[in-house]
Amino acid sequence: MPSTPHTSTDLFDDASSRLEEIFKRLAVDDDVRERLAQPALSLQVSVPVRMDNGELRVFTGWRVQYDTTLGPAKGGIRFHPDVDLMEVTTLSFWMAIKCAVVGLPYGGGKGGVQVDPKKLSRLELERLSRAYIRAIADVIGPDRDIPAPDVNTNPTVIGWMSDEYDAIARAKTPAVITGKPVELGGSLGRVESTGRGALQVLNIWARRMERKPEDLTIAIQGFGNAAYHFARLAKEDGYTIVALSDSKGAILNRKGLDPDRIWKEKTRNINLQELVYCDDSVTCLADEAEAIDQEALLALDVDVLVLAALEDQIHEDNVDDVRASAILEIANGPVTSKADAALAKRDVPVLPDVLANTGGVIVSYLEWIQNRTGDYWDEATVNERLRARIEQEADRVFALANEEGVSYRTAAYLQGMKRIAAGIMRRGHDH
Ligand code: GLU
Repeated sequence: MPSTPHTSTDLFDDASSRLEEIFKRLAVDDDVRERLAQPALSLQVSVPVRMDNGELRVFTGWRVQYDTTLGPAKGGIRFHPDVDLMEVTTLSFWMAIKCAVVGLPYGGGKGGVQVDPKKLSRLELERLSRAYIRAIADVIGPDRDIPAPDVNTNPTVIGWMSDEYDAIARAKTPAVITGKPVELGGSLGRVESTGRGALQVLNIWARRMERKPEDLTIAIQGFGNAAYHFARLAKEDGYTIVALSDSKGAILNRKGLDPDRIWKEKTRNINLQELVYCDDSVTCLADEAEAIDQEALLALDVDVLVLAALEDQIHEDNVDDVRASAILEIANGPVTSKADAALAKRDVPVLPDVLANTGGVIVSYLEWIQNRTGDYWDEATVNERLRARIEQEADRVFALANEEGVSYRTAAYLQGMKRIAAGIMRRGHDH
């Protein structure tokens, strides 16, 4: 991915700076401002792992609960070499906003371990996942803080974590973590949910703009689980996916790419560009796509640029290169506030993360309900409940943006912050 000019402290400052305008518009009480200036709880832990060669390695991990006014903390766990306390803090803050935007009874949390999971064997990864849960077990729980998947943590990893927590609690406690494999109490539809929800937000926007999917081209930065399902479903709906990237490079075909075919290779650990450079060992897509630069993907002349990688990807230094007519954020925080302002000046709408990527946490909420009631639903029921919630909350955000004459992001923040602020005030003054 392109180089990131910011440190994670800048990221947090940037994220909090967005709140000032919101606080002013809502004329919030000073109590609210003060409460939300820092996280409710930050825990740093060491995560010891016995490696396959017998050596002991100790990784650093964190769990942050930013705010728990509206319910237990909720948010994923990230395994990545760049994870640090401030990144996890910022991501937990975004979770608090996000859950409130779509009306979930949750606060915001996030966890992470500073590790490159691609360098671990499967058994080392399992030991790391279990050790991390042992380290944070005291602060999580179905009514306290409910982790989930994020970058580089999939249902398999979550399954190990769930099993480890059960062993510690000496009780089956599926509602402590979401994104589990279906066999261990996971919800049908959870794996596809982030991509599905993002596509729904795009569809609602396109309908409002009177644009047809058949006429819209899409470039996607990132090709992880959320991006794949988004791409697959968007193609089914008639959009044309012209470009994709991963952490090593990008590929382009103006006539359209086939996400399913590419994903099949990706899951065998093959980079996108290897597919077009055609080693004998991989399916050859040389006739179907050309290799391009990752930065070139961000500058493609497409209708929608989808950001589905990491935070801080469109910033002051490259925002002027963006030629897409609209941006959809599937990643958390991919556009900095300065870049946001520059895009607004050019009338490039941004469908913001705190609305567009809520499909995942919404279905996590549905998983948690199923775990707590013991009543498990079919996939159609899950998808319908996801659809209904996104539609209701996205319509509200779009209407608010119109009424107030503000960006979609500002409207989403207003909607979320109004709910959090009301909760803070209702809790009373002496806490
Ligand atoms: N990691 C996802 C996110 O950033 C999902 C969180 C969850 O399901 O709790 O929204």
